[in-house]
Amino acid sequence: MAADCIFCKIVNKEVDAEIVYEDRDIVAFKDISPVAPVHLLVVPRRHIPALMDLKQDDAALIGQMHLVANDLARTFELDQRGYRVVINCGKDAGQAVFHLHLHLLGGRALQIMG
Ligand code: 5GP
Ligand code: ZN
Repeated sequence: MAADCIFCKIVNKEVDAEIVYEDRDIVAFKDISPVAPVHLLVVPRRHIPALMDLKQDDAALIGQMHLVANDLARTFELDQRGYRVVINCGKDAGQAVFHLHLHLLGGRALQIMG
């Protein structure tokens, strides 16, 4: 756990969030400022600042985060219409919270990215 990390606090239940999934390694919860009808964040329990910090040993973890996103897409009935998975990494991508997280977005037609 990193001091002053909001997502560590959510994972440790020190800060409230609407948690929609959790297992031994991964927690998922609703984004506080959703930009789509469904906007979930999938995070590892372990504090990893950003995508670029992943090591070879984390290959299964980042894969599992995507499989959790797929399961949540089915749960939230996005699987027929489609959905987007986004990971912002670093300043130019607009990463605001430096605890690795995957955004799962859907429920409306999304804009082209860029
Ligand atoms: P980033 O820009 O780092 O990829 O996205 C961070 C996301 O975390 C944003 O979409 C923001 O709304 C969300 N977020 C920031 N603080 C909180 C919080 O305290 N609770 C929840 N549920 N989401 C948060
Ligand atoms: Zn953290």
